[in-house]
Amino acid sequence: MIVSILADMAVLLIVLIFFFLTRDEAAVSSIDHSPKRRLNYIVIVIVVGLLLLQFSVVVDGAHYDYRFLLYVFSIKYIGPRVTLPSIFIISIFRFLWSVNQAAINSFIYGMILIATLFFVYRFLEKRINDFGQLIILSLYTLFVGAFINLVVYGNFFKDHQIYLVLIISSSAMIIAFLWIIHQIRSIKEKSEFDYLTGLKNNRRFYLDLSRLKNESTYHLSMIDIDFFKSINDQFGHLTGDEVLKAIAKIFMSYRSDKVRFYRTGGEEFTMIIENYNDEQANELMASVLTSVAAIDYDLIDKNGQPVAITISIGISNLINIEEARSAIHRADLNLYKAKAAGRNRIIFD
Ligand code: GH3
Ligand code: MG
Ligand code: MG
Repeated sequence: MIVSILADMAVLLIVLIFFFLTRDEAAVSSIDHSPKRRLNYIVIVIVVGLLLLQFSVVVDGAHYDYRFLLYVFSIKYIGPRVTLPSIFIISIFRFLWSVNQAAINSFIYGMILIATLFFVYRFLEKRINDFGQLIILSLYTLFVGAFINLVVYGNFFKDHQIYLVLIISSSAMIIAFLWIIHQIRSIKEKSEFDYLTGLKNNRRFYLDLSRLKNESTYHLSMIDIDFFKSINDQFGHLTGDEVLKAIAKIFMSYRSDKVRFYRTGGEEFTMIIENYNDEQANELMASVLTSVAAIDYDLIDKNGQPVAITISIGISNLINIEEARSAIHRADLNLYKAKAAGRNRIIFD
């Protein structure tokens, strides 16, 4: 029995992590994968379901295994259009193992889950966190099995020791799964942020660029610190780093869901501004320019003057998101013009 349970756990955990890594988040929230992807997932869920069945613990002809947990994770992470047909087909295949009362119970069990599981998930989805959802869903699916025992055998607590093992081990698996995906998420998150400034990095910039919405309009801004090399030369690299941090802090104070900053190069930054008109975008950038120039670094230059550090900015607008590359190029050209025109200014034409 222990071997069966461990084999089941291993199969399931590997597959769950695979699902989590390959799933398309956008598709799950709208619950619509492409038909080909959906079919692939259905095949995988069925194969895993049958594998779990194969490693079941059998008591009086009834197969106990982690199919319920497969359904729970599947409904939450890949959606009902994959899960419900898979439950149906697995329930049919179950008759290959045996044709008896237990197999009929198992079929009824599958049908009840098809009719109710998604609604239970929908009810829980907005009300409690992921852990709570998974635990309650798994208890619900176990409860349905026990309920069938009550109706068919008049004994809700039939095979209660197995149920106890399933409850404890499935809770442990839910905890292990959530811990692993938490780790994966935090690594992914770190890979999209710049360590020095805390701003989003180049990788995230291109990712966000690919996700721009057709129904919005955008401005792109390229920002470059003026004469930054001479700051490093005069005061050292560490002071240069502090300057970068101070400037990034100003940028962060302008951040919103419509205004995004990225550190796309050493002392170069890019912005994506959403749904601002030309005048508003110009005003915003003028304000950023002034705020950066006003930072007090507490540094004195070789002429005994306090150091002021400025930035130059090139802006372009992006009406058609297919032209993102050309918009980056135009903003770059404008930045170059701002440098050539004497720095500490904005060019937008
Ligand atoms: P310009 O006004 O034309 O932009 O002049 P600049 O000196 O800013 O331009 P340049 O491209 O010559 O120099 C950029 C400098 O930025 C060179 C590099 O040492 C410095 N830099 C890039 N990344 C970092 C960093 O992470 N920390 C520090 N301290 N310096 C950096
Ligand atoms: Mg530069
Ligand atoms: Mg520079």
